Amino acid sequence: MKLAEYKNQIYSCLRCGFCFDHEVGSQAKICPSHVTYGMESFGARGKLAIARALVDEAIEYDSDVAQRVYACTECGACEEQCFKYLDLLGIYRAMKGELAERDLVPTALADVARAAEREGNPYGQAAGKRLDWAPGRERVGKKAETVFFAGCTPSYLRRGIARGAYQLLEAGDVDFGLLAEEVCCGHPSYVAGDLAGARAAVARNVEAIERSGATRVVFACPGCLATFRDEAPELLGRPLPFEAVHVTELLTERLAAGWRLRKQSRVVTYHDPCNLGRGLGIYDAPRRVIDAVPGVRRTEMRRTMARSFCCGNGGFVRFGYEPMAIENEATRLEEAVATGADLLLSACPACQIAFLDAKRRAKAAIEVLDIVEWLATAL
Ligand code: SF4
Ligand code: SF4
Repeated sequence: MKLAEYKNQIYSCLRCGFCFDHEVGSQAKICPSHVTYGMESFGARGKLAIARALVDEAIEYDSDVAQRVYACTECGACEEQCFKYLDLLGIYRAMKGELAERDLVPTALADVARAAEREGNPYGQAAGKRLDWAPGRERVGKKAETVFFAGCTPSYLRRGIARGAYQLLEAGDVDFGLLAEEVCCGHPSYVAGDLAGARAAVARNVEAIERSGATRVVFACPGCLATFRDEAPELLGRPLPFEAVHVTELLTERLAAGWRLRKQSRVVTYHDPCNLGRGLGIYDAPRRVIDAVPGVRRTEMRRTMARSFCCGNGGFVRFGYEPMAIENEATRLEEAVATGADLLLSACPACQIAFLDAKRRAKAAIEVLDIVEWLATAL
């Protein structure tokens, strides 16, 4: 949608500040961008003021506007707390789309999106190495009811996540295959505001899945899942002919059917990835799977579920806004350590990279794993 189509919503902003200031009843700020950069224009209320000036044609898009709009992890905390229930993420995406049309995407993010479109992954890695994480080739191109879509970060940077999901699906007797043609889901282009690039990536993957005949696609990366479940139907202008599910949703089905995991004596805290939790409303499935491991005590962080605090690394902000990523991942790691847990789990490769970085800087003892990596050790 164009920004002008959000005019009524933009005018409805009360300037109350619930969207960027303190979490209700605490002194903890909710917006990673506002935490780090301090200025109102980096928080939701300020961006709404910028949006209003744009639709009123009082200002024009320029690099200052771009700097603020892209300093956003798309965590959705502002929208969760908005007093007027405004579609804030929709408004930011409309601004990004118009910035991209004017070639005003910050260089670091533009490079990532271009690499994803050119190479099929945002890291400039060889396409031929994409499936190197897989234990074998027998499932590549296999006709099956389910496809496991590994995504770029698990395929190249956090291969333990791809392998863990693969092992869990095998152990759960899921009939699944891998796509030989898998490329980046389109999330980096979407975040940059390049809808044509995102549409091309989505179309390529959806066509490959359609050719496979699968009726269900399983994801371990919430960014990929959000792209397929929320964005792909709109980008393609049609519903998808398959179901898109998170691996923990599928595992809860298996647990209900009597599947069992081995004992682990751990105190575990779980971080809700923003795309999975606030974005897709998947809060229970990961917790149910953790609770199904005998011997585990799960403890919640002070900010949790819909009020969870971002790991600081969504929206590819690590590329171009590194101080923001570093400051906020450290804050969230401290919240995890404060629970007394010996294991911090997330369900997102970007969160895990963030927490491993924070752990290294803080020399913290807490172990950091992705939920599927850890569950694979309980098989
Ligand atoms: S989505 Fe998150 S980072 Fe972006 S403005 Fe809202 S609270 Fe801040
Ligand atoms: S919470 Fe909503 S209504 Fe209040 S200032 Fe923020 S955007 Fe405006």
